[in-house]
Amino acid sequence: MHETTDTLIVGGGIIGIATALELQTRDPSSSIVVLEKEAVPAAHQTGHNSGVIHAGVYYAPGSKKALFCREGVPATEEFCREHGVGFDRVGKLIVATHEGELDRMTRLGQRARQNGIEIDDVDEAGVRQLEPHINAVAALLSPTTGITNYRRIAEVMAQLFVGRGGVIRYGERVIGCHEGQDYVAVTTENARFEAARAITCAGLFSDRIIRAFGHEPGYRVVPFRGEYFRIANQPDDLVSHLIYPVPDPERPFLGVHLTRKLDGGFTVGPNAVLALKREGYRRTDIAPGDLMQTLSYGGFWALLRQNAGSAASELWSSVRKRAYLAKVQRYCSRISLADLTPYPSGVRAQAIAPDGTIIDDFLFIRSNRCLHVGNAPSPAATSCIPIARHIADEVATLGGA
Ligand SMILES: Cc1cc2nc3c(=O)[nH]c(=O)nc-3n(C[C@H](O)[C@H](O)[C@H](O)COP(=O)(O)OP(=O)(O)OC[C@H]3O[C@@H](n4cnc5c(N)ncnc54)[C@H](O)[C@@H]3O)c2cc1C
Repeated sequence: MHETTDTLIVGGGIIGIATALELQTRDPSSSIVVLEKEAVPAAHQTGHNSGVIHAGVYYAPGSKKALFCREGVPATEEFCREHGVGFDRVGKLIVATHEGELDRMTRLGQRARQNGIEIDDVDEAGVRQLEPHINAVAALLSPTTGITNYRRIAEVMAQLFVGRGGVIRYGERVIGCHEGQDYVAVTTENARFEAARAITCAGLFSDRIIRAFGHEPGYRVVPFRGEYFRIANQPDDLVSHLIYPVPDPERPFLGVHLTRKLDGGFTVGPNAVLALKREGYRRTDIAPGDLMQTLSYGGFWALLRQNAGSAASELWSSVRKRAYLAKVQRYCSRISLADLTPYPSGVRAQAIAPDGTIIDDFLFIRSNRCLHVGNAPSPAATSCIPIARHIADEVATLGGA
């Protein structure tokens, strides 16, 4: 079988689907086909995350993350309002649990203000008043941080796209890619597709797809599992904000946080431990090919050398629940071991450069007829609408556009 279209999009996560909808909105007459290997949209990172609408506190001023996240908050809220998807602007407290964290907290507040983000300083008494069950000597309050359900947003976007004539082909795993002078061709296990241009948004497989198109992405995806627990036995008003620790600059991730859920209750997480399979959600999931790719990559070992302490602590918290609990009890001593009940993990696609550097910012790689989303980690779900607009602007200048 052989199909021809204007634009092919590889990957039906929130980035691929938001992009499809944006392109269709700009040109309703163009034909767009999304190829997704799973049977449903949002089966991977988009469907396994914290569901936080990040305000944009953490990101380097001037970075794509800072820009797109700031634009993403109102865009996400507006989409949710317009299409009946739940969201709640609950606000977030970033809490310093001892004096030693105050400098870092102050610097974080300055960064947020540089990014144009509303942020308030809260003293110890203020924290006690806002959150009686939280131990902190001071905090930053981000009133515009919220929660939503990104899987639901992606599903609604997919319904809109298909309802307006777009095509999503589920169960189509892309296994071969070719970029010619006048066209691109993509082969799946079932069919061959040709198009004037292609956009790839393959999340945990972004590097492999870029390489399949004949380009060296300059990084490799190293998958990091993020383990969560649902908090049981605690009242629904245990906390009224999201509670985050002050992030350790030595560590690439934000630290386990208490996240209110739209359906009530809380989760705590995620930590960050090496996943032995790119889409392996359980500790026991192993894909020898994925693992070999990680272990044979110099960038992984360089990363490990640079973050040995943090890696050991995260691994320890994964195998020993009490160590995980200790991270939570730093700011909420009321939570006990019996309160940590199972909750599905997520796996992050972390792009690592050959020298072990974590590629922090969103990364887009373009060639004559393709635009590849190389790195779209958190807060890419929050930022999906501005990212889609950016991709659509770029695609308009590709060959064949
Ligand atoms: C634990 C965790 C917590 C997070 N928390 C937040 C948060 O609170 N807020 C926030 O904004 N962001 C958060 N993120 C980040 C956010 O989830 C991601 O940035 C976002 O979902 C990326 O979307 P995506 O479409 O690029 O990737 P994905 O959702 O992973 O989608 C990629 C899609 O490509 C498909 N695909 C891959 N290879 C192929 C192939 N060969 N053929 C066909 N299809 C293919 C996959 O099946 C998948 O559906 C979190 C991420 C994780 C893992």
